[in-house]
Amino acid sequence: MEQIHKLSVAQVFEAFNVTTKGLTAAQAQEKQQIYGKNVIDEKKKQSLLLNFLKNFTNLMAILLWVGGIIALFADMLQLAVAIWLVNVINGVFSFWQEHRASKATEALKNMLPSYARVIRDNTEQKILAEDLVVGDLMLLEEGDKISADARLVDCSDLQVNQSTLTGESNPVRKIKEAVLRDDLTQAETPNLIFAGTTVSGGNGKAVVMEIGAGTEFGKIANLTQNMGEETSPLQKELDRLTKQISIIAITFGVVFLLAAMLLVKQTFASSFIFALGMIVAFIPEGLLPTVTLALAMAVQRMSKRNALVKKLSSVEALGSTSVICTDKTGTLTQNEMTVNHLWLAKQQYEVTGVGYGPEGSILREGKTVTANDNLDIKLLLTAAALCSNARILPPNEQSARYTVLGDPTEACLGVVAQKAGIDMQHQAATTPRLRELPFDSRRKRMSTIHRLLQPIEGAHSIAYIKGAPKEVMELSRSIRINGEVKPLTDELRREIMVANDGYARDGLRVLAVAYRLLQEEDRLPAAMSAYTPELIEQNLVFVGLVVMADPPRPEVKEAVCKCRQAGIRIIMITGDYGLTAESIAKRIGIVTGPKPRVISGVELEKLSDEQLKQYLKDEIIFARVAPEQKLRIVSNLQEMGEIVAVTGDGVNDAPALKKADIGVAMGIAGTDVAKESADMILTDDNFASIVHAIEEGRAVYSNIRKFLLYILNSNMPEAVPSALFLFSRGAIPLPLTVMQILSIDLGTDMLPALGLGTEKPEKDIMNRPPRNPKETLLNKKLLIKAFLWYGLLGSITSAVSYFFVNVQNGWPRVPLADGSDPIYIKATTMALAAIVFSQIGAVFNCRTERQSVFKVGLLSNHQINFGIAFEIALIVILVYCAPLQAVFHTGALDVSDWLFLCIWPPVVLLLEEARKAWARKKSLES
Ligand code: ATP
Repeated sequence: MEQIHKLSVAQVFEAFNVTTKGLTAAQAQEKQQIYGKNVIDEKKKQSLLLNFLKNFTNLMAILLWVGGIIALFADMLQLAVAIWLVNVINGVFSFWQEHRASKATEALKNMLPSYARVIRDNTEQKILAEDLVVGDLMLLEEGDKISADARLVDCSDLQVNQSTLTGESNPVRKIKEAVLRDDLTQAETPNLIFAGTTVSGGNGKAVVMEIGAGTEFGKIANLTQNMGEETSPLQKELDRLTKQISIIAITFGVVFLLAAMLLVKQTFASSFIFALGMIVAFIPEGLLPTVTLALAMAVQRMSKRNALVKKLSSVEALGSTSVICTDKTGTLTQNEMTVNHLWLAKQQYEVTGVGYGPEGSILREGKTVTANDNLDIKLLLTAAALCSNARILPPNEQSARYTVLGDPTEACLGVVAQKAGIDMQHQAATTPRLRELPFDSRRKRMSTIHRLLQPIEGAHSIAYIKGAPKEVMELSRSIRINGEVKPLTDELRREIMVANDGYARDGLRVLAVAYRLLQEEDRLPAAMSAYTPELIEQNLVFVGLVVMADPPRPEVKEAVCKCRQAGIRIIMITGDYGLTAESIAKRIGIVTGPKPRVISGVELEKLSDEQLKQYLKDEIIFARVAPEQKLRIVSNLQEMGEIVAVTGDGVNDAPALKKADIGVAMGIAGTDVAKESADMILTDDNFASIVHAIEEGRAVYSNIRKFLLYILNSNMPEAVPSALFLFSRGAIPLPLTVMQILSIDLGTDMLPALGLGTEKPEKDIMNRPPRNPKETLLNKKLLIKAFLWYGLLGSITSAVSYFFVNVQNGWPRVPLADGSDPIYIKATTMALAAIVFSQIGAVFNCRTERQSVFKVGLLSNHQINFGIAFEIALIVILVYCAPLQAVFHTGALDVSDWLFLCIWPPVVLLLEEARKAWARKKSLES
């Protein structure tokens, strides 16, 4: 439909054969069957085969392929086949892990479906965006992501951010009227809206004209799909680390190659294979896929605890979060509003009942009052309820309680009107709504304009305004007192604020209600026939205050306490009033001092960055701030070196969510725009879920460190035997052969290491300060521990076991030159088994960083237990299975040998336990 922008609204409905009641369900279904779903076909993912082959072309794999070829040329067929086999097993394993990780992240994407609101069968419905069809009547409001190209048929103040199409992020004003010009591009046409763009203000209705690949966005989608997945800093660090270690390993390899040729006079082929063993021993193969998998698993676990993380890299940032900037309503509080007080000039009322049920009444000095008894109460509650969009649903099959559709702050206004005996349906019919000036958190108020069937004082329409008391009071010139309009004197203004502050100190949320009779001249010039907030919201008549309770979420107090122990600061940034914010903050423990600093949005504007930074060092609450101001607070905190998580739900929160290290959007109350800008989405809007996610973030980082420590542990014991052989110029026969090294590195070590990636968070993980983001994963401490402490232990156990056999059989004895001497074979088998056995002790040790492993339960990680069982089974097979004996130079061991080997796990375990106990004692003393 080329010329759709030139049609009038009525013609648009006609052209699509729909009415204001929308399509019927049957029509929508029929259209979907013909035209398909509203999806853009994803570009074919990289083929699975290609991904599989990638695992056989990295540096280590190539070295092993070459090693195999050289072994083949040197007539060592068995060795060649064995090396290749090891390579294949390792590649398959890495592929499998990567595959699992990508499956886990894909599953997550499906947990974030997009929705659209439409009118079908004359009722408003929330449907999956993919189910939109051409002709659907789509409803739009601030923060929505638009899911199809459409022609507007209704709008008030609608503004759209079209940056995904045009790159221009300034909001574009949209209209519903016909546009007769021909010189505009699609995106410039003001009565058309497009898939992939977002509503930055106002609301409207539009008829869908294109879906899926037919949309403007669909046409350019191929471009955006080419953007690769971003690699996380941790993945980059590991990539760099693997490369660095590979260089060191190759240098070692070259030294060993030369030493074998020059010192022990071996052939090039056997020297090369010997050096290859060294290289393989050192390269931390499998590190990257394992880390990716650990991150993906953490993300999966977080999703079960109501935190959906969109990128793997966010998991790391979560682990080092040092400040959480959180809003109040809905995140720290339950967002279940109940009106419990009303205030009219010189009169106060109590409201009974809890929740959204209609049970309850309005009391004055213990006596029930109805709207008919007091016309000011009637006006207060009617105005408040008419100036609302929320609906209450009675108990139904899905919920046994009354539930809210829309903003809870508005929903409770309808409830209290009902308690006062006001028939809101009748009110809505006799004062029909003409226009809405939607709520905006900068203005902190909302207005609706209604037609008066009976003119009052010559006015044919009336505006009802509700919003933050201070803002509404400042715009008021008069006040209703006992049914009469009186000037709003300074004395009365003071009275209003005293009442407001009294309620706020109890942690209550207060809304003011006002009205204004409108004359014709209150409209903009006829051509635009519109009202604006500037024109309407002035010269108001103040009616009264509606006071509501929104209790803190019960689990938040504990979460706040956890943050305190974990060295994470919490800063409340709310649009609500300072005293309300302070009272709630005190109740849940965010602030502890008697007089915390409360900075309002206006004060914040006047502060210099230096002053702000100074204030940010102490306990502080930001109240009555506009969402835009969050960005400045976040930036300043980041400049102070903090890692900042910030929460948000509206369109104007998007810049701060993007700037923060962790942008957290609300899954229930959040707009599509906020969700798109965020790194993490809370499916329950609950502050406590952020803290759970931080805990997981810390745990996964510490697990990766445990894993890394473990796989580096066996490097020294694998290298030392070869060094003994080389630098004794062959006087000590090679205690560990290349195939044995490969069997440890790629066989026995793998499964227990993976188990470390699944360790539960240590109990004290939230008792430590946040990780310094500059601290690298592989620091000096970890290297010393891996190479000198565990490395030395492993080397000693392996050497002692090797000599144990030799000494028993008369050392020094000259083994047969071809390596077939049974005592020599048994000694190398013991050296191999000793490394495996000491690694069993080490894997238990690596499970905790500071705590005693006995405290978390030695055998509580079943994956590790399984890994150890597998490791033992593998070594037994290597030792007793004849065909493998030939490849791995192993031979049968006696019972006494096994008993001797059994000493090593407890020795390694207890030595490290003693070291940990000493370290704990030292840190207590300091
Ligand atoms: P938070 O920022 O912690 O979520 P909040 O909901 O109070 O708290 P905003 O949504 O920015 O923050 O609202 C700012 C103020 O505007 C509120 O304190 C209240 O006085 C007023 N307000 C909130 N919702 C409405 C509404 N639907 N209509 C009119 N005024 C509202």
